[in-house]
Amino acid sequence: MKYFIVTYGCQMNVHESEKIAAILENMGYQLAFSRNDADIIVFNTCAIREGAEDRVLGNVGNLKKLKKKNKDLIIAVCGCMTQKEQTAQNLLRKFPFVDIVIGTFNIPNLKHYIEAVKNGRQFELYNEGSLDESLPYKRSDKDNAWVNIMQGCNNFCTYCIVPYVRGREKSRKEENILKEIKEIISEGKFKKITLLGQNVNSYGKDLEKPVSFAKLLHDICKIEGDFKLSFMTSHPKDLTDDVIYAVRDEEKIEKYIHLPAQSGNNRILNLMNRRYTREKYLSIIEKIRKEIPNCRITSDFIVGFPSETKEEFNDTCDLVSKVKFDSIFAFMYSPREGTVASKMDNQIDDKVKNERVNKLLAIEKKLQKEAK
Ligand code: SF4
Repeated sequence: MKYFIVTYGCQMNVHESEKIAAILENMGYQLAFSRNDADIIVFNTCAIREGAEDRVLGNVGNLKKLKKKNKDLIIAVCGCMTQKEQTAQNLLRKFPFVDIVIGTFNIPNLKHYIEAVKNGRQFELYNEGSLDESLPYKRSDKDNAWVNIMQGCNNFCTYCIVPYVRGREKSRKEENILKEIKEIISEGKFKKITLLGQNVNSYGKDLEKPVSFAKLLHDICKIEGDFKLSFMTSHPKDLTDDVIYAVRDEEKIEKYIHLPAQSGNNRILNLMNRRYTREKYLSIIEKIRKEIPNCRITSDFIVGFPSETKEEFNDTCDLVSKVKFDSIFAFMYSPREGTVASKMDNQIDDKVKNERVNKLLAIEKKLQKEAK
C-alpha cells in the first residue's frame, strides 16, 4: 500500500505533512513515486491565499479519473482550507468521490478515518481539538528538523484567516519540546533545529505555569550537542528585549530574525490590527542592529491593503529603503472570506496592487545590488 501527500502553503503545513506521513507509515503505507501509483492521496491545504484554494480544487477535481480506475483509492483533503465548514461542505458536494474531508484539528485521528472509509464510511469533520503530543514525525528535510512549539494565533490581524482555521494559541509544554529536541539531537541526523509557531514570541503565555519564549530558547541551548537553533515567525508587538538578548548571547542561536512589518504606514498598520507603529518597528530594528550587528533581518509586506493610498504605499517603500533588509517577501493583498478586511470599503484594483508589488520588489532588488 502506498501514499502520496500534496502539501500547500506555509512551513507549518509542511511540518504537519511530516506528521501525516508518520501516521500513514505506521499504518503500513509506503511513499509512492506519484499520485498515479498511490492507494491513498492526501491534500494538505492552505487557506491563506485565494490562488492556493483554487489550485487545490483544480487538483482534487483531476483525481476523478484516478478514482474511476481504482475504486479503492482513498482521497483525503485536510488542513486550513477544510477547517472552514462551508468550504469543506462545498468540496464534498462538488467532488463526492472524495472520502475524507477534515480540518486541521482532526489530523491526529486520520488513522481512524481511513479505517472507517475502508468499512464504507465517508468523513467530514472540522471540530476543534487539542494538541496531540504523542504523534511522531517523518522528518523530510535533510539537515533541518522542524519543531512545532505552539498552534494557533490570538492576534486577529484583519487580513488573516489563521485564527479562524487554526484556533487560539495553544503552547506545547516546555518539557515535551525539550524531550523532542533531545531525541532529535541524540539521533545525530540533524544539525539544525527550527522552532515553529504563528507567533513564537507569545509562546508559553497560555500554559498553566507560563514560560517565556526567551526562557525556552535558553533552556534548549543548554541541551548538549552540536546544533544551531532558529525560530519563526516573530511578531513585532511581542518580540521582547529578552529574546533579542538570547539571540545575542547564545552561541547556538542563529543570528537571524524574520520580523514581518506588513506596512510602513501607521494608518494601514492600525487598519490591519497589527498593534505596533512604524516608529515602534524601526526602534526594534535599531535595537537588534545595536545588540547583534551581524544579525540577518528579513520581513514580509502586504501591498494594496483596502484604502491604501499612493502616499501610504510610499511609506512602505521608505521603510524598506531605510531598514535595508537582507531580504523581503512582498505580497499583493488578497481578500479572504470571513476576515474583517475582506468587508472593508475601497478594495484596491488588482492592476494597482500589481504595480505596487513590482515597485517594492524593484526597490528591494536595487538595495540588494548596492549591498554587494
Ligand atoms: S499574527 Fe496576524 S498574520 Fe500572523 S498568524 Fe496571527 S493573525 Fe495571522
